[in-house]
Amino acid sequence: MNDNVYEVLIVGGGVSGTALLYELSHYTDIKKMALLEKYEELATLNSNARANSQTIHCGDIETNYTYDKAKHVKRTAKMVEKYCLQYGYEEKLMFKHQKMAIGIGYNECRFMTKRYEEFKTLYPYLELYNKVKLEEIEPALIVDEHGNGRDEEIVGVGTSDEYTTVNFKMLSDTFVENTKKNTDAKTDIFFNAQVDSIKKEDEIYTLLTKDKRTFKAKMIIVNAGAHSLFLAHKMGYGLHYGQLPMAGSFYKADRSILKGKVYMVQNPKLPFAALHGDPDITLEGHTRFGPTALVLPKLERFKPGTYLDFFKTLKLDMNVVKIFSDLFSDKDIRNYILRNYLFEIPYFGKKAFLKDARKIIPSLKMEDIEYAKGFGGVRGQILDKKNKKLMLGEASINTNEGIVFNMTPSPGATSCLGNAERDIKIICAYLNKNFDEAAFNKDLVEEDTNE
Ligand SMILES: Cc1cc2nc3c(=O)[nH]c(=O)nc-3n(C[C@H](O)[C@H](O)[C@H](O)COP(=O)(O)OP(=O)(O)OC[C@H]3O[C@@H](n4cnc5c(N)ncnc54)[C@H](O)[C@@H]3O)c2cc1C
Repeated sequence: MNDNVYEVLIVGGGVSGTALLYELSHYTDIKKMALLEKYEELATLNSNARANSQTIHCGDIETNYTYDKAKHVKRTAKMVEKYCLQYGYEEKLMFKHQKMAIGIGYNECRFMTKRYEEFKTLYPYLELYNKVKLEEIEPALIVDEHGNGRDEEIVGVGTSDEYTTVNFKMLSDTFVENTKKNTDAKTDIFFNAQVDSIKKEDEIYTLLTKDKRTFKAKMIIVNAGAHSLFLAHKMGYGLHYGQLPMAGSFYKADRSILKGKVYMVQNPKLPFAALHGDPDITLEGHTRFGPTALVLPKLERFKPGTYLDFFKTLKLDMNVVKIFSDLFSDKDIRNYILRNYLFEIPYFGKKAFLKDARKIIPSLKMEDIEYAKGFGGVRGQILDKKNKKLMLGEASINTNEGIVFNMTPSPGATSCLGNAERDIKIICAYLNKNFDEAAFNKDLVEEDTNE
């Protein structure tokens, strides 16, 4: 092999790119790989602990997941848990908290009870909590500021002894640390390496970075978050997709109000996790609420620029206009979008947000919460222009030509090891290499979750 050519090159050092690097180095016979990261360290964007909700979304309390989606997500979510247990990361970067989804009022309570009956075969640990039990385990859900109980009917479905929370930035760092322990493979990491263009010639890809460095590889996996589609479009791939960056912000309270994660029933028309409250693992003794969802005309939160990249990846045309007009003609979605804009406006936003958050915690007051500055990220939601629809989850473009582009809105952090497993199979087939699936399953797959 030409000395300068990597077998596999990964673009992007978030949780997706680093998980893939780890799996390649541990479960394949690929011996020469590299990862190029735009910034000076790993996981500064969506995989950063302050950018996302830190939740292992395994499908048990995500009320918008169908049984089949929950089964699939559970398998990949368990991989994160098994990985962390294998290296002893519990209480370091992976934590157990109580967690639940609550239904409020007649319809939601019936819905939650029915869902509990259906899903407890998949998640035998789930419990159904009535108001009395909820007052005992999560009193803030029941008691208002005057010490009176909540009038409405309420039920919770949840558990108290599962791993629920991960610092995905720390997880990304461990993927690289553990990759480096395998000295049989050459695994190079390059920081401040923003890939600007990718070209293929004679079966070899050449990547040019903004600072004019060149890298060569036989196969490329682009895990560049919201920029994956941007790079795909630059090469003429995925032109049937547009991308709508949906920023998610948070509010916080500077005291512990909740003992664990409390999610609400989610509108299945929306691709975002329902508003929830939980203890923040980066802020001891604080409670976080959110995330909100609003269209932001840039691809990276809290970083300069990327406005032009937004317009380029939106791929605005009549199909995109049709998707928007369909979304806006749905009353629920329209109200949701407008309300989320309101959440960003000083004072009025806080007032409106408080009204929603009080559905979880009736005693919450204006002085309890503040907009969490510097928290939040951008979910690159995919617009399927062919079918004129907003896609609800992740998307991947496998060109079958040795380059794959992954778009990873929520629950992309939870699925990092599962997505990497999918890509490893594509890589090994393309490069004629071997994937040690038995070792992978033994280390990372929980037996009863194989589909
Ligand atoms: C508000 C919010 C809440 C969320 N909550 C959850 C949750 O609770 N649980 C969950 O599982 N998921 C959640 N998600 C989704 C999750 O954060 C993402 O799916 C996940 O972090 C995606 O990881 P990634 O590595 O694919 O992308 P990113 O973390 O965005 O990383 C992409 C990397 O690529 C680099 N890059 C970009 N362009 C280039 C380039 N040209 N050259 C080189 N490098 C480049 C970037 O610098 C970055 O490091 C949430 C997201 C948001 C916004």
